[in-house]
Amino acid sequence: AFGFENAYKALKTLRLDYGILGPFGLPVPIPKAGKGQVVVKNHAIGINYIDTYQRSGVYKMSLPFILGREGAGEVVEVGEGAGEFKVGDRVAYREGSGSYAEYTAVDIASVGTLAPHITYDQGASVILQGLTAWTMVRSGYEVKAGDWVLVHAAAGGVGLLLCQMCKQLGAHVIGTVSTDEKAAIAKENGAEYVINYSHENVTEKVNEITKGLGCHAVLDGVGKSTWQTSLDCTRRLGTLISFGNASGVVPPISIMALSDKNLKLMRPRLFPYVDTRANFLHWWGELKELLDQGKLKLKIFKTYPLEEVVQAHKDLEGRVSSGKLLLRP
Ligand code: NDP
Repeated sequence: AFGFENAYKALKTLRLDYGILGPFGLPVPIPKAGKGQVVVKNHAIGINYIDTYQRSGVYKMSLPFILGREGAGEVVEVGEGAGEFKVGDRVAYREGSGSYAEYTAVDIASVGTLAPHITYDQGASVILQGLTAWTMVRSGYEVKAGDWVLVHAAAGGVGLLLCQMCKQLGAHVIGTVSTDEKAAIAKENGAEYVINYSHENVTEKVNEITKGLGCHAVLDGVGKSTWQTSLDCTRRLGTLISFGNASGVVPPISIMALSDKNLKLMRPRLFPYVDTRANFLHWWGELKELLDQGKLKLKIFKTYPLEEVVQAHKDLEGRVSSGKLLLRP
């Protein structure tokens, strides 16, 4: 957008070699650790759909800012009040912005250490999307054995984690995807049934599979284009969680839409679950246990050099990717 790609290319051509690359590919100084912060030398940077909302203006940001909300690397500086970390610690983190860089100053509130056998790529793949998925199935709607759960974009980054987690919790997962290739990936990750919405009617198929009852929970990160289908596929007394806007923001709705089946509706964000160090450690502790014990398979779609970030965003928004996209600084 607005010349970012060209500015970045121009900068690379000029081979400016001081500091790090900031907004529009311009060099900025290496950040200093403020109070309660550590500086992380990023080895892997996670791309998330929210980065595209912040880039395009769906979510307003004050400019200039550095994109990126997730990364993993080694601690190179420890600020005042961040003494639980030391230089050399291997960590993953979630931040408000700033991870598309070689070095990022991060508030320790959402920094977690990585076990020695967990790679930086795994850390940067799981901290944001994994916490989003885990809080959703443990708190947003507490998935129980025998539940029917519909997961949209089931082969996506969050989608694959949701499929695995719901299956581990004993639920029957129905996934939706746009291609047969993605259908196979969703199945490998725990979806019992997969509906290819490019040539199948999702509501009809869900009714057929659930014998007309619909799903106990519908987990919808697609947003605008799937809203009505999600409503139709949620069973009486069921829960609809709308957690993203990949196809656009869901337009304002009347709460009466929930009354035909006494539905519960939730629109979560990760941050209110991990707003304090204690809350972060609670959820990260549970997720880390799954990760350390090898209970989560992390599918990395592709790792792009940082200068190919434009292509990475195109692949994510163009529905080309499945699983996680990473940047390498
Ligand atoms: P994904 O890897 O899931 O990519 C998005 C997928 O959505 C696509 O691959 C595509 O799958 C599907 N899709 C359907 N319609 C469209 C469309 N019109 N344009 C683009 N994609 C479409 O992304 P993420 O895993 O990064 O994120 C998934 C969702 O979760 C996003 O909405 C994101 O904002 C949300 N999210 C919310 C969080 C929260 O705290 N609430 C935190 C993290 C993520 P297919 O081809 O199969 O249709």
